[in-house]
Amino acid sequence: MARILMVASEVAPFAKTGGLADVLGALPKALSALGHDCRVLMPLYGEISRSGLRRVYDHLPLWLNGTHFDTAVWQADGTVPVYFLEADALFDREGLYGDSEGDYPDNHLRFAVFARAALEVVRRIFRPDILHCHDWQAGLIPAYIRGPLSLDPTFLAVRTLVTIHNLGYQGIFPGSVLPEIGLEPDQFTAEGVEFWGRVNYLKAGLVYADALSTVSRTYAREIQTPEYGFGLDGVLRARANNLTGILNGVDYTEWDPSVDSHIPANYSCDDLSGKKVCKRELLSQFGLPEAAMKQPLVGIVSRFTSQKGTDLIAAIGEELVKEDLSLVALGSGEPQYEAMFQDLVQLDPEKIGLRIGYNNGLSHLIEAGSDIFLMPSRYEPCGLSQIYSLRYGTIPVVRATGGLDDTIDEESGFKFNKYSGPDLLACLRSALAAYSDCDAWKTMMRHAMGRDFSWDVSAREYSRLYQHLLTPGALNP
Ligand code: ADP
Repeated sequence: MARILMVASEVAPFAKTGGLADVLGALPKALSALGHDCRVLMPLYGEISRSGLRRVYDHLPLWLNGTHFDTAVWQADGTVPVYFLEADALFDREGLYGDSEGDYPDNHLRFAVFARAALEVVRRIFRPDILHCHDWQAGLIPAYIRGPLSLDPTFLAVRTLVTIHNLGYQGIFPGSVLPEIGLEPDQFTAEGVEFWGRVNYLKAGLVYADALSTVSRTYAREIQTPEYGFGLDGVLRARANNLTGILNGVDYTEWDPSVDSHIPANYSCDDLSGKKVCKRELLSQFGLPEAAMKQPLVGIVSRFTSQKGTDLIAAIGEELVKEDLSLVALGSGEPQYEAMFQDLVQLDPEKIGLRIGYNNGLSHLIEAGSDIFLMPSRYEPCGLSQIYSLRYGTIPVVRATGGLDDTIDEESGFKFNKYSGPDLLACLRSALAAYSDCDAWKTMMRHAMGRDFSWDVSAREYSRLYQHLLTPGALNP
């Protein structure tokens, strides 16, 4: 069994802005259940309470380019110990990455210190076999090991894995930060961390890590193409032999209609009657008429960004409201995409309901009360919401990309390929037609509800990857 240190900027339940935190909250536990000694390191943000934590290392020595940073390490005990890097000048702030003014201007320094400190944790607190680095915020770790620390025996036997949760976020900063973050000047090349004259933290991880992974097989393939590669497709193609896709799992203690405490009635495959109660409640919460109980109800829970296909939904608005359906949407994001949904409501407020904001309880009710879940993403590394929908018997209509393609089959949902309004509309119409055949629809619901995406399966795949990395000779070309 392996000793694993995961390094990430978000870990549920301590700090979360997206799916990354859920993965870090669940995967280490599943690995520990398989017998691994898995631990996690994250920053000690201002929003994290120190009561319940203990300080396990005072004054971790940390220097970058001759500047000293006062850091310490705290720990939360549990089956998976979580370490927190204290560096108050950098992390004791209102947000994780920024505030109302935008991203913090020193994010390059914050996550350089974090990455460099992870290596001091390895030296002084917990020496792992595998350093598992997540996203750009931990991307510099392999670059330090292969650059300024390349002669340091501490790290010789440590293998690094970088997991990409979303290639759309790379941590790109001006080239002038290079000395400040303590990398070697000769690492600032196209074969290193340089990206069009700037420093790219994710690229640093992709270039220098021993192995790479992302969160679905299809996304692993797609990111090697210019269409999905965000400028890093060449780098990823060069590392294709070391890149794998492992699907995320979901937490069925939180997301299962038979135990969900956020919904007005529980239900299961054997007794679906509670789903109607949820639908009625959902319509009422969105102020839609009771008569809509007879029509299919389409649900959306999403960040409103270009990634999620909001513009496609807007493009078919006129046709959508002519269909025999109702639609409820919950989300927030970029103002232009929020405005698209507001315009959609104006087309027919009796059919379209909208809630702008973040509301966990309501997201559960939408999963439970809808008949169809709509997720027409432009790209989707894994996607969790469509996997929840399956368990709630809410049939997903998705674009066949990334994790959406890997998790939805013909017996449990509807998929379309081309990113276009007419293709989305045609796919949605197929789903609406299928809904009118009550027995066939119930068969589909039961198939969907029976599918299993628990973490145990994913953890076993990571486990195999770690074992492979630790096999002598595995990394030789
Ligand atoms: P991403 O991580 O790209 O946003 P995922 O589908 O992987 O997409 O995960 C999204 C998660 O965030 C789901 O758990 C979903 O329910 C939740 N979510 C997204 N927007 C909202 C919202 N406005 N209110 C509540 N939960 C939301």
